[in-house]
Amino acid sequence: MRDVPTATYDEVDALDTIELPPPGTIRRGMLRFSHPTLVEWSWPYTAIRGTADGPHLALTSGVHPAEYPAMEANIRFMRSLDPAALRGSIVSLPLIDVPAFLPRTPFVCPIDGKNPNRCFPGDLNGTFSDVMVDAIFRSVIQPADALVDLHGGDMVEALAPFSIYSVTGNDEIDNRSAAIGRAFGLPYLIANRPQPGGLGGTSVQAAAAAGVPGIITEAGSSGLLTEPETRMLVEGVENVLRHLGMLDGEPRQASSIVEIDRFTWMNSPAEGMWYPSVAVGDTVTEGQTIGRIGDLFGETLAEITAPHAGDILFITSSPAMRRDGLILAIGAR
Ligand SMILES: [Zn+2]
Repeated sequence: MRDVPTATYDEVDALDTIELPPPGTIRRGMLRFSHPTLVEWSWPYTAIRGTADGPHLALTSGVHPAEYPAMEANIRFMRSLDPAALRGSIVSLPLIDVPAFLPRTPFVCPIDGKNPNRCFPGDLNGTFSDVMVDAIFRSVIQPADALVDLHGGDMVEALAPFSIYSVTGNDEIDNRSAAIGRAFGLPYLIANRPQPGGLGGTSVQAAAAAGVPGIITEAGSSGLLTEPETRMLVEGVENVLRHLGMLDGEPRQASSIVEIDRFTWMNSPAEGMWYPSVAVGDTVTEGQTIGRIGDLFGETLAEITAPHAGDILFITSSPAMRRDGLILAIGAR
């Protein structure tokens, strides 16, 4: 994985929409929006158009601002991609939650305290995060034939690498999203079905509802820029391009992918210190003790047990725990 030595960059800032460059060229610059809520901000973008026609991919990251392997994989992949080898086009935004990047606020945008990945497809009349994701959804995601939204563990989160797609009930879109997830090749693939209190407002959910198949991919943990996870994500993006016919060759087959149908997020019954007794990737049985919450005298406030058998897919890696705070997630086949 190295930069294309002959790459030249046509530097063009964009307003509200990103125009693709001429065939066989790369354009990059800052994306700005005319909406009054967003006028002081700008988003770096790169658009690459292949010499031949083909699908159009949206490649995003930095919806959560300390998921650095995801952002680095996006940056590195785009610099390594030779337009002469590409069929179709890609628009990349390496950092969506721009206001959160320098303050390092995990998960949320510091302007309104909202998690942008619960705000898709956005709202023109909402607060900053709603308006931001609305603008990005219209300009980058909706025009695409497929979406790959790169994530990982934010500042206080450890995880086993997985991809997740949104089940809409439209079999054609759902099957295409699942196939993109299998091609990406991370060890777990989660089918996220709508359920009361379930995960909503995500980039892939809004995309799939608008007819754009896609996946969220997760690799990397705890706000660290780690090389194996960065490479895993770069390789996954390459695999998806091969799967979509945008690059020559077949996707490199993952050795095995565990497909998850039941994804249970667990919340803390008490406020205090969180002591997990399992690690990400561990397999647990129903009723198994998986950790405890203690108070600041060291007394145990609650034992946490697994509600069903499965694999531990993520764990909040910070011990500081609110009542109802997210402690971990279990996935089952
Ligand atoms: Zn994330």
